[in-house]
Amino acid sequence: MTVPKQFYGLAGAPVLVHTVRAVSQVAEVGDIVLVVPGEHCGWAEELVAEYSLDKVRGVVAGGRRRQDSVQAGLETVPPSTGLVVVHDGVRPCITPELIGRCIAVARDTGAAMAAVPVKDTLKSVSRDHRVTGTVDREPLWQAQTPQVVRADLLRQAFVEANRLGVTCTDEAALLELIGVFMTVVPGSEKNIKITRPDDLRLAEAFMDKNRADFSPCALRVGHGFDVHRLVEGRSLVLGGVSIPHSLGLLGHSDADVLTHALCDALLGAMGQGDIGRHFPDTDDKYRGINSLYLLEKVVSLASAEGFALVNADITVMAERPRLSGYIPEMEKRLAAVCRVAPEVINCKATTTEKLGFVGREEGIAAQAVVLLVQEKKGGQGVSG
Ligand code: MG
Repeated sequence: MTVPKQFYGLAGAPVLVHTVRAVSQVAEVGDIVLVVPGEHCGWAEELVAEYSLDKVRGVVAGGRRRQDSVQAGLETVPPSTGLVVVHDGVRPCITPELIGRCIAVARDTGAAMAAVPVKDTLKSVSRDHRVTGTVDREPLWQAQTPQVVRADLLRQAFVEANRLGVTCTDEAALLELIGVFMTVVPGSEKNIKITRPDDLRLAEAFMDKNRADFSPCALRVGHGFDVHRLVEGRSLVLGGVSIPHSLGLLGHSDADVLTHALCDALLGAMGQGDIGRHFPDTDDKYRGINSLYLLEKVVSLASAEGFALVNADITVMAERPRLSGYIPEMEKRLAAVCRVAPEVINCKATTTEKLGFVGREEGIAAQAVVLLVQEKKGGQGVSG
């Protein structure tokens, strides 16, 4: 038993699942009926459950010809249905937007289909492979799906096709039997039909590009938290800015607690552990080091992994001194190291109302949250 192409794996899910997901996103689409080869109905039903394809109301066994399959699907459509959208299960790169445009035009005209103008030069060729002429391609378009039709028109067309006993290769041709001509909606070259193994690779490239635009997988959030003890005889450095104060923070480095929280958030978003793993305090080379240097190392690591900083939000908790006046300078210095505009970094300071170790001025704490976006490796070269 050969596997039909709609069940081939593509970008982590069967081709049919991608197609149904795209169709499901169209608000105007109420119910979806899947028409598949009879012996694979069970498989399709399993996919519907496994991938929570909630709009699918039924799985129907198809027929020998395309039109037999469409007719089998149409027979399950309730009489009250206005428009029927017919779409090939093996066109997984369809966008909800294109389906929506076809529906909008069909509302006005009764029937509309996606198609693209023919771009290659067309030759008419004799049986012995001699060119007999060049076909004017100006009026020629290649039919795609979706093809959207008023349900009553499609039913009439089937009655006529069955009466005449003719075979039609698409719904547009069926409608022509009853004198109805579809309106063409400019489709997309990416709306390919999977017919050969190479088409799967092409579809994957198209889908990768689409996914990178909105995929949650490309966004990474990170959180950092740090505390340092306040002592005499140390300078106070926060966000790379030296702040005059009677106490300073204790630590192996300059103990810039705010910058440490930011480093930890960045490393966390990358899934790269924490600052202690990258810059151990047992290593003498980090003794007394300016923490902006550590941040620079972390930012370089992020950039090597294809991450860019979307934004960072940092809160420093200190009872004294008042920090608000230093915040613009902190944001400017951190932004420069992160190679972003200052508005990307937001710093704020709070006291803890004299409560806890911060309130007793035993230490200063900082928290940071960052959002990183990862540019996808590969997938370039496919223009969108
Ligand atoms: Mg620290």
